[in-house]
Amino acid sequence: MKYRILENSFLGNPPDKDKTYIIIGAGVAGLMTGYFFKKAGISFKIIEKTDRAGGLLQSHQLKNGIAEQAANGFLWNREIEQMAQDLGLELITPNKEASGRFLVRDRELFRYPLSMSETLSLIGGLFVAHNNTFETIEEFGKKQFGDAIANQMLEPAFAGIYGASISQLSFPGAMTKVANVLNSGNRLPMALIRSRGERSREDSTGKGGSGTHSFKNGIGELTIKLAEYLKENILYNTDGLQFNTPDNHLIITAPAYVAKDFFTGEVHDILNAVQYLPLHTSTFIFKKSDFKTFKEGFGCLIPRNEDLPTLGVLFNSCIFPNRVVDEEEHISLTCMLRDEEDVLYSKMTDEEIKDIHCSDLNELFGLEAAPIEYKVFKWENAIPLYSPELYNNWFTLNYFLKNKYPNINLFGNYTGEIAIRGMAQSLGKFFPQKKVETDVMVVEKENLITSVKNEEE
Ligand SMILES: Cc1cc2nc3c(=O)[nH]c(=O)nc-3n(C[C@H](O)[C@H](O)[C@H](O)COP(=O)(O)OP(=O)(O)OC[C@H]3O[C@@H](n4cnc5c(N)ncnc54)[C@H](O)[C@@H]3O)c2cc1C
Repeated sequence: MKYRILENSFLGNPPDKDKTYIIIGAGVAGLMTGYFFKKAGISFKIIEKTDRAGGLLQSHQLKNGIAEQAANGFLWNREIEQMAQDLGLELITPNKEASGRFLVRDRELFRYPLSMSETLSLIGGLFVAHNNTFETIEEFGKKQFGDAIANQMLEPAFAGIYGASISQLSFPGAMTKVANVLNSGNRLPMALIRSRGERSREDSTGKGGSGTHSFKNGIGELTIKLAEYLKENILYNTDGLQFNTPDNHLIITAPAYVAKDFFTGEVHDILNAVQYLPLHTSTFIFKKSDFKTFKEGFGCLIPRNEDLPTLGVLFNSCIFPNRVVDEEEHISLTCMLRDEEDVLYSKMTDEEIKDIHCSDLNELFGLEAAPIEYKVFKWENAIPLYSPELYNNWFTLNYFLKNKYPNINLFGNYTGEIAIRGMAQSLGKFFPQKKVETDVMVVEKENLITSVKNEEE
């Protein structure tokens, strides 16, 4: 096998029904762990340092719409769908107008930004056999498809998710599914066909949804409902470090720079070396009429060679309903920025950041006026860097936890799954859920019973 693949991002021993756990941190990782434990009848307490649950995730209600402070949505998965149904939350799917995902090239938006010669190089690259292993996404992209595709497509796509450049990102760590596919062969299409066959044999769960989902009042509804469901189990305003005694079973879901203090020696050093990237998101509400050339869609990604500071723009109010109060007149956009070596946006004022984005939006869409409302979120430690070093360290950490610290687990956005979907799926592997009966299913079942009775009569 070319690439080692983590079995589960819940590092350490699997959960044990007979133990009592202390979960450190009530971010989405800690709350979802609590949810699955409560359903499975495992006893636990969640310790949260601050006075609110949700960690990075929170939706802010502005006068004219919603501003998400971190995640805007999550990719559909059975675990969150069932959790939402159980908590009485309704999932919302993107509007039809949101189907266009654009890449910017020469300041214009394209669904497909490649020229004919670049397309030929893309097709050719798919059939080239590679016996070597790729350490970074940049190596994979450039060797497999050439510079143009790496720079025009992979760089902006990964900057939008991981906040990092493809030269910094581990190929098997951040493109785990593709790396796993290459474990089945050294030609991508053949390996894809082989791995698809294996997947469909493995996955007998039937049809599910797909694409990005959220909730009517923002993604923060999930953590609010989870915190309500777990209210008897959460202890707020308490530092989890005081529970670090040999007889306690800990699941540390706080970030690596907090988790490091629970250990000494090599595990401490590995966690201390996890790098977090500063990322800033700003949500703007504009009048629709202030744009000369806006295209409806999901959003656009901006390659670095466009020389615009903005990494990407999400067209919130095109994607989901209820993102602006006045849907006829207003539009909501979220723009992303990351600190660069020569420019530290984290040191700038909100107004300076607003002006930078408005200038970029003017270049792209002919924006002619200031927003009617905006909110800037600056995160010095936003996203863990999925570097080749971190990827290798997942296996070392797992080994140390299982052998030297069997009472401790590490779980969070730096342990193998950066997105909410991946975290939910990791937990779901330990606790396969029973199908939840929705209201529609109950009505259907009742109708079926009545019709069977009628037929019997
Ligand atoms: C700008 C941005 C956009 C994103 N977009 C998306 C997206 O669209 N889709 C998606 O799926 N993901 C997205 N993500 C990623 C996702 O939001 C995060 O990975 C996820 O919210 C992290 O959750 P967590 O529980 O691991 O960590 P956190 O949210 O950091 O939670 C950790 C918790 O631990 C607590 N804590 C810290 N120290 C202690 C202590 N000593 N004792 C007790 N408690 C402690 C903290 O107060 C906090 O509540 C985005 C992230 C960012 C920053």
